[in-house]
Amino acid sequence: MVSLRGNRIFLAGPLVAVMALAACVGAPDVRRSVPVKRPVAQKPVLTPAPRFADDVSTRQCMADLGAASVQYSALPDRQFDGGCSTLGSVKLIDIGTPVTNLGAMTCPLAKNFAAWARYGVRPAARQILGAEVVKIETMGTYNCRTVNGNGGATGRLSEHAHSNAVDVAAFVLDDGRRIAVRGGWKEGTSSERAFLKTIHNSACKRFATVLSPDYNAAHYDHFHLDMGRGPFCR
Ligand SMILES: [Zn+2]
Repeated sequence: MVSLRGNRIFLAGPLVAVMALAACVGAPDVRRSVPVKRPVAQKPVLTPAPRFADDVSTRQCMADLGAASVQYSALPDRQFDGGCSTLGSVKLIDIGTPVTNLGAMTCPLAKNFAAWARYGVRPAARQILGAEVVKIETMGTYNCRTVNGNGGATGRLSEHAHSNAVDVAAFVLDDGRRIAVRGGWKEGTSSERAFLKTIHNSACKRFATVLSPDYNAAHYDHFHLDMGRGPFCR
């Protein structure tokens, strides 16, 4: 057992950081140990719930993005009608490969997407296609809609409705080739199909849910990658 006193000494560095953080997020159990100089309010004061973006894990995720030399901007938390939201999200600016149509992405989604592009997509293109990926084309990230996409009042919200999913459509190579999920997945050359299969497999190791044209007709032209429920790889 470690005494509280010993524990505090051991954690002095991180504790200072947590206390500094507490000034922003008002984590109640940390604040309790800090002397309160202001008079205690007689009535309960309603304060906003801590925002997801202030969550320690989100801050750690953003630090990880920076450590991976990923350029991004943190976005303000936003809630929309219909339960849609962009919380703890970033906009990727530079992940080493140009990417089209990226909007708000939750930090874990952005982090895994950047790593997939760097450690999955680009090496696979070099090894299987003998070319560099110079552009990744997506069909977007945030979209306030239900899973089936009709935007109706019924049905579970898509992970896109929480900026937690990205749809990837194609890859442009430095030799001019464009490998698209549409056509390439089933009717591409053997090397194109091998490339798409390989990066699909590597996506399944990083994202919670990965959907390809094999999943259903709605995904005939893209890979859906999200950090929601899983693991699910199809
Ligand atoms: Zn999708």
